[in-house]
Amino acid sequence: MSDSTPPVFQTSGHCPTCDSDVDFVARNPWFRDHFVCTCCGSIPRERALMVAIDSYFPKWREAVIHESSPGQRGASLRLSKECSQYIPSQYFPDHAPGVLVGKMRCENLESLSFSDESIDLHITQDVLEHVFHPSRVFREIARTLKPGGMHIWTVPLVNKGQPSRLRARIEGNDILYLEPEQYHGNPVGDGRALVTVDWGFDICRHIFESSGLFTQLVHIDDLSKGIRAQYIEVLVTVKPQSLGVENEIP
Ligand SMILES: [Zn+2]
Repeated sequence: MSDSTPPVFQTSGHCPTCDSDVDFVARNPWFRDHFVCTCCGSIPRERALMVAIDSYFPKWREAVIHESSPGQRGASLRLSKECSQYIPSQYFPDHAPGVLVGKMRCENLESLSFSDESIDLHITQDVLEHVFHPSRVFREIARTLKPGGMHIWTVPLVNKGQPSRLRARIEGNDILYLEPEQYHGNPVGDGRALVTVDWGFDICRHIFESSGLFTQLVHIDDLSKGIRAQYIEVLVTVKPQSLGVENEIP
């Protein structure tokens, strides 16, 4: 979509990821991928994620943040610039967990090398629709979060109120396809990532049953921040400070 294509929509406002007054322009009606900030190139879900981080974890600059498979723009770039304890990771099958590959730490979300209760904030952006064992990921997130820590993340909830549906699973060394193969773009590897699950709103139950943690779905629709598109819910999964209640709630 070149700059000469006429916009289908344009507005100005304040971009949460580059923290600037900007124009937001869409040159394609599929806003989710095309409603960009003309300053930083971010898309709506990235701006929604940044708003949720600012609202739910305002002390993120002082936090230990782990982000799996970060992007080169948007919230990833902002977090890397302003948080001194930001740890970006990517899964490199040929490297040992925990080692640095360039500036990127090697981590498999299904089996993290971080110690128990060592991370304040886990961030994932459109990653959990591509893993084969989401329950393991939810457990690993819960194990490694400090009490009071959070996983703030996006995943396309394409099934909305319908049940989540597995699209592919591992059987032995093979991938078994339960639905026609579907891929999203991937900044690494061969440039594409297989979609393994079509998630719905019941993802919150899956997370709870795997990890015991509660999750809020945050829907933001705010054109003044360039946030409008399909499937841009932000999930905020919280590890409580303690499992007890201070006062008995009748
Ligand atoms: Zn921006």
